[in-house]
Amino acid sequence: MFKALVVEKDEESGKTSAGVAEIGLEDLPEGEVTVAVEYSTVNYKDGLCIGPGGGLVRKYPHVPGIDFAGTVEASDDPRYAPGDKVVLTGWRVGEVHWGGYAQKARVKADWLVPLPEGLDSRAAMAVGTAGFTAMLAVMAMEDHGLTPERGEVLVTGAAGGVGSVATAILAHLGYQVAAVTGRPEQEGYLKGLGAARIVAREELNETVKRPLEAETWAGCVDAVGGPMLARVLGQMKYGGSVAAVGLAGGAQLPATVVPFLLRGVNLLGIDSVMQPYQNRLRAWERIARDLPMDKLEAMIQPATLADLPQLGADILKGQVKGRVVVDVNA
Ligand code: NDP
Repeated sequence: MFKALVVEKDEESGKTSAGVAEIGLEDLPEGEVTVAVEYSTVNYKDGLCIGPGGGLVRKYPHVPGIDFAGTVEASDDPRYAPGDKVVLTGWRVGEVHWGGYAQKARVKADWLVPLPEGLDSRAAMAVGTAGFTAMLAVMAMEDHGLTPERGEVLVTGAAGGVGSVATAILAHLGYQVAAVTGRPEQEGYLKGLGAARIVAREELNETVKRPLEAETWAGCVDAVGGPMLARVLGQMKYGGSVAAVGLAGGAQLPATVVPFLLRGVNLLGIDSVMQPYQNRLRAWERIARDLPMDKLEAMIQPATLADLPQLGADILKGQVKGRVVVDVNA
């Protein structure tokens, strides 16, 4: 038997409740590889799945946890053998399929990525889906011509998970990072990650009628969406790229097409869930190389399985700073 965070649903009231329970190997879903999970983390989607499900969870009881890192315990697939270190993000694990909030997980071999050289399982989960997605965003902007010489890069939702890792990676690569936050008390934290300056959330939340403003940003990693993304599009430099990652500020995009037509601005969609294997490998290798580990350490908030119900509620309210690392064996 081993420990897992299990979410149950009361069919009558429709209410869900989450708590740590003991389950067995026979309870795990089918899959080719059984992993002894070491660490998991807390993402916005986890907040939804620990709570009422947000339409993501199909069947109860459910074990959430959209990402995990650990050691292969048993494998029916020739690509993996017991003792291999692996990381998993995406593929709707933790939503449709049982996830990483357990001491063991069973998954498809196709979903796993070998842990890159230079990252252990704790560091991999300090990065997690949020950091992996931040790296994909940086890579997409680079593929569209972004270099440090082109000018300042904006990161929205900067004190959150995606924003924190994006800030640290970009600063390490030599970019001037302007970090947008609604939490002015996080200025020291963000500057510690390498942000050159802080932009107050209110400055960008207000909708303006003019489709174009002064050309300010060469790139932007946007975790917020909504009116802020619309505003940022009008502030991009000629040929600049915005990597749209999240919707912490809303799913609507009240924008005009003018920045695309007159400034050749690129709006790049970033999806971490269905990324092909080769891109995953490339992103994890870049993370191992381009994310300074001392900066990563500063982002970590440690947690256990028992802390998850509270942390799930906190992340939905935008109250989690940096990256939570869940030690499932603590
Ligand atoms: P966090 O909750 O850690 O960070 C989001 C941050 O956005 C907050 O910390 C806050 O930053 C800011 N924010 C929150 N609410 C608002 C608001 N109303 N207006 C403006 N800013 C706001 O989440 P993550 O970093 O893990 O994820 C960020 C987004 O990216 C989520 O929407 C998530 O679903 C999405 N995502 C998408 C992925 C993909 O594959 N495309 C993968 C991973 C995440 P601050 O306090 O600094 O202002």
